[in-house]
Amino acid sequence: MSTHEIMSQTAVQARYDCLFRMTSDGLITLDAEGYIDRMNPAAAAMLRVTPEECLGKKPTELFPQNHRLLNLLTLHDEITSDVRLPEQRLAVGFGMTFPDGGRMVVLQDVTERRDLDSRREALGRTIAHDLRNPVSALDGFADLVAKFGEVNDQQQRFLTRIRQTSRKLYDLLETLVDLAWIEAGMPLQHVPVQLSKIINNVVDELTSFARVRRVSIAVSTQDPMPVVMGDPLRLQQVVYHLLHNAILYSREEQTVAIHSWQDAEQVFCSVADQGIGIMPGELEKIFDRMYRSNDDYVRNLPGGGLGLTMARTIVLRHGGKIWVESTYGEGSIFTFVLPLAEAL
Ligand code: ADP
Repeated sequence: MSTHEIMSQTAVQARYDCLFRMTSDGLITLDAEGYIDRMNPAAAAMLRVTPEECLGKKPTELFPQNHRLLNLLTLHDEITSDVRLPEQRLAVGFGMTFPDGGRMVVLQDVTERRDLDSRREALGRTIAHDLRNPVSALDGFADLVAKFGEVNDQQQRFLTRIRQTSRKLYDLLETLVDLAWIEAGMPLQHVPVQLSKIINNVVDELTSFARVRRVSIAVSTQDPMPVVMGDPLRLQQVVYHLLHNAILYSREEQTVAIHSWQDAEQVFCSVADQGIGIMPGELEKIFDRMYRSNDDYVRNLPGGGLGLTMARTIVLRHGGKIWVESTYGEGSIFTFVLPLAEAL
C-alpha cells in the first residue's frame, strides 16, 4: 500500500470518527461475537448510559427489559423498529449485519415528531368535529328550508348559494389545517421515492374524474425513472393538485400530458394542458394562498385556491422549485424539479 493510500485511509477514518461523535443519531456497533465495541455519545445520551459502561458487554446484560432494542442489537436481520427510551422518549431504530458478522444499530429520537403528529391528529379531529359538523349543519338546514314551505326564485338562489358556500368551506377546512402544519415545519419523511410510481398512483386516482370531464391523460416517464429523496405522500399531493387542475381547467375532448425526466442533477415533472390558460397578470399570483382567477370559467368551477400553495410549499420543503408557463386561452405547463437522490 502506498503512503498516499495509507494517509488517505487515515483521513477517511478521521472523518468517520468525527461523524460518529458529532451526529445526533445514536450509533452502536457490535463485533461478530455480539459484544458492543463502539457507542457514540448520542446513543449513550438516548439510553442514559455511558459508552464506558457498555463497551465489551453483551446487550442482554445491559438492556434486559428493552426487548425491541435487544432484537435490534442481537438479531441478524435488517430490522426497523420503534424503541422505547428512558423518560418516555421514543426512537426509531434500524439494525443491519455486515458480511464480517459485525452489526450496526442506528437510533433516531422521534419523540418530538411523534408528539407533533399526535397533536396534529388531535387538531384534525377537533376541526372535523367542531368546525365541519356545524358547516354541514348549515348545508342541511338550507335543504330543509325549501322542504318546509314555498320559497320564491330569489330565495331559492340564496339557498343554493348557502349550500355551495358551506360545501366549499367544508372541503377547505382540512386542506387549510394541513397546509398550516406543513408551513409550520412539520417534519417530512426522507425516504427514496420513485416518481414514476407516484405519477401512476395519481393517474389511477384521477382517471374517473378525467372521464367525467371527457379529458384524456397521456403519461410519459423516463425508464428507469430516477429516485428522489422525500416524502412520498406529500409528493403525491403535488402531482395530484397539478393533474387535478390540468383536468379541471381543460375543455372537453382535450388531452393533459404528464411527463417526467431527469438531467445530471435533477428530476423534472411537468403537467401540460391545452385548456383555458392563465392571464399574464395572474401568473405570479396563482401560487398565493386562496388566489383564484377572476375568469368566469374558473369562478364557476369548485376550488379553494389552496392546491398550488400546497404544491409549492411541499416542493420548496424538498429543496425543489415549481413554476408555470401559460398562454391565455391556449393552455398551461406546470413544472417542478427536485434534486436527484444521488446529488443529496
Ligand atoms: P383551485 O384550483 O382550487 O382554485 P389552486 O391553488 O390549485 O386552486 O389554483 C389557483 C388558481 O390557479 C386557480 O383558481 C386557477 O385560476 C389557476 N390555475 C391553476 N391551474 C391551472 C391550469 N392548469 N390552467 C388554468 N388555470 C389554472
